Amino acid sequence: MAIVGGGPVGLFLAAELRRGGVSVVVYERKSRGAGGPEDGGDRGLQARTLQLLGWRGLLDRVRARAAAENGPGIADFTGAPGEQAPPEIAELVESWGTTRLKGHFAMLPLIDRDDVLADVPGQLEVWQDRLVEVLTEHAHDSGAVSRDGYEVTDVTDRGNHVHIGFSDGSTEQARWLVGCDGGSGIVRTGFAFDSTDPAMHVLMAHATLEPADLVQPGIHRTATGLMFVNPPPGEIVVVEFDRPAPDRRGPVGRAEFTDAIRRVSGADITVTAFERATRVTDYARLARNYRRGRILLAGDAAHLHSPMGGQGLNVGLQDAANLGWKLAAVVAGGDVDLLDSYERERRPAAQRVLRNTLAQSALLRTDPHSEALRAVVAELIELPQAKRHLAEMVSGTANRLPTPAGRHPLEGTFAPASVLAAIPSDAVGPVRVQPDGLPVMVVRPDGYIESVP
Ligand SMILES: Cc1cc2nc3c(=O)[nH]c(=O)nc-3n(C[C@H](O)[C@H](O)[C@H](O)COP(=O)(O)OP(=O)(O)OC[C@H]3O[C@@H](n4cnc5c(N)ncnc54)[C@H](O)[C@@H]3O)c2cc1C
Repeated sequence: MAIVGGGPVGLFLAAELRRGGVSVVVYERKSRGAGGPEDGGDRGLQARTLQLLGWRGLLDRVRARAAAENGPGIADFTGAPGEQAPPEIAELVESWGTTRLKGHFAMLPLIDRDDVLADVPGQLEVWQDRLVEVLTEHAHDSGAVSRDGYEVTDVTDRGNHVHIGFSDGSTEQARWLVGCDGGSGIVRTGFAFDSTDPAMHVLMAHATLEPADLVQPGIHRTATGLMFVNPPPGEIVVVEFDRPAPDRRGPVGRAEFTDAIRRVSGADITVTAFERATRVTDYARLARNYRRGRILLAGDAAHLHSPMGGQGLNVGLQDAANLGWKLAAVVAGGDVDLLDSYERERRPAAQRVLRNTLAQSALLRTDPHSEALRAVVAELIELPQAKRHLAEMVSGTANRLPTPAGRHPLEGTFAPASVLAAIPSDAVGPVRVQPDGLPVMVVRPDGYIESVP
């Protein structure tokens, strides 16, 4: 079994496949030095992912090694948010890192003021490079082999095996191959996608602005966009809409960054210190199929969207948990049709994330109509049911397996921790259990209740 891409999804999938006894090799094009991979940004791990990592016994390691010391940029504000910052932002800063904060929707904070969301766990901020280190160890401990510095340049399904070509001209073959090679990978070539062009353009950089007093630290919404400004030399995020589309993967130059800040702030600033510049858009793409013959996709290779709400990594890790035990069962001689349920269950989950991230882009706009819509949504969010709906959506806890109507309400849901504790940790297929006070149920290795017979 081959996995292309040793990012978080590929590594977690490797360990999941090993649970099922499958031999796995992960090919990663980067050569990792002692300092780990280069992508070191902070990421939010959401409730459903935390439940999963907890069940796999990884949460303490993730907390100890990967948990970000500070939250993302917004938590770094030392003073009061900028004058134009709406009051909800001040409350967001105050709630950061507390269990009251259940995430945000388009930067409208989901704050649990009345304990009505006490059962919805908050999120954990992690450094992605540290998370990858933890998952690398986990994959190795499980017996997976990883080959760093191997760039895959060709993947061809030959019917009874997959041919793999590398940039140095060497070749390998595998019975099955999963593309976990992210948004710019090559395994998805040949797969059909539905996509939405970007409307939101975001530039980020650690930068210093001069004169310093023209743009205050804080969050600024203006007629031409919005900016998140940390005190220097912290990160500055500039968001604009409907700009001429740049090369999504092109580098961000100082001049481009300066122009964007000038357009949004109206201030005649100069950017002095300037590093770690990157660009993000709300370009969205979803594979129509997650499998073509012996080649499958997982993570960003299958679905791509803006980072709004912090969901991509989470969806990808849950793809891996869903696919791992099924592919292991097929490799062990099980019915290949089992793999159809991977796409049936995970594609709608990704589709919902694409939808909610695009909705968040729309709510971030600063034109008068969008500001009015945002104000109305901000009021709606305060209704307990609406807040729960959004918190569960972004945290992934709303996710359940598609089940036919009329089934037991527990069927298709993620099993509670008490039930998971009763399942042998080495279970490689669905297990029948009868937890105290609950009906007999069949629980899958990814934690979902398959049936309540
Ligand atoms: C600014 C930003 C903030 C984000 N914040 C969050 C957040 O808070 N929460 C969240 O859930 N998500 C967040 N995301 C999204 C998250 O980072 C991605 O969803 C996640 O990294 C996807 O993991 P992956 O393993 O699928 O792909 P990747 O992390 O992209 O890993 C793919 C791997 O494949 C390797 N590779 C590529 N091509 C080849 C090849 N040809 N041969 C061999 N190896 C190859 C790459 O080197 C890489 O290591 C954010 C993204 C950005 C940009």
